[in-house]
Amino acid sequence: MNSHPECLFCKIVTRAAPAQIIYHDEWVTAFRDIHPAAPVHVLIVPNRHVTGLNELGEAGADLAARLLLAAADVARREGVHESGYRVIINTGADSGQIVLHLHLHLIGGQHMRYPIG
Ligand code: AMP
Ligand code: ZN
Repeated sequence: MNSHPECLFCKIVTRAAPAQIIYHDEWVTAFRDIHPAAPVHVLIVPNRHVTGLNELGEAGADLAARLLLAAADVARREGVHESGYRVIINTGADSGQIVLHLHLHLIGGQHMRYPIG
């Protein structure tokens, strides 16, 4: 697996750093955000290191699908697939991306304001 030794989310994927992991498969890992913005706030990350959406590229097409399918699966497991949820990918400085390992925020369990941004 392509893992970056200094990357926090790589460490979570390999269990070298602690997290509340709620789902894991061959491609992706999902764990609870340490500072939840809503009753349900889960991060879904690729197991291999990808810095962000800009780095995913054509070779990451299958991985992109896996991430989205995992998000819907996690939403089901967390009981928000019918009440509704939001999936966000922050990319780059203006978005506020802090952790440079691609991640989907899955947020739900409350009514959310719109528009965001
Ligand atoms: P972003 O701003 O999109 O890069 O979001 C990074 C997210 O990672 C934030 O919502 C943080 O609360 C979350 N986070 C940072 N460190 C950890 C950690 N050790 N375990 C779980 N979530 C974390
Ligand atoms: Zn990483």
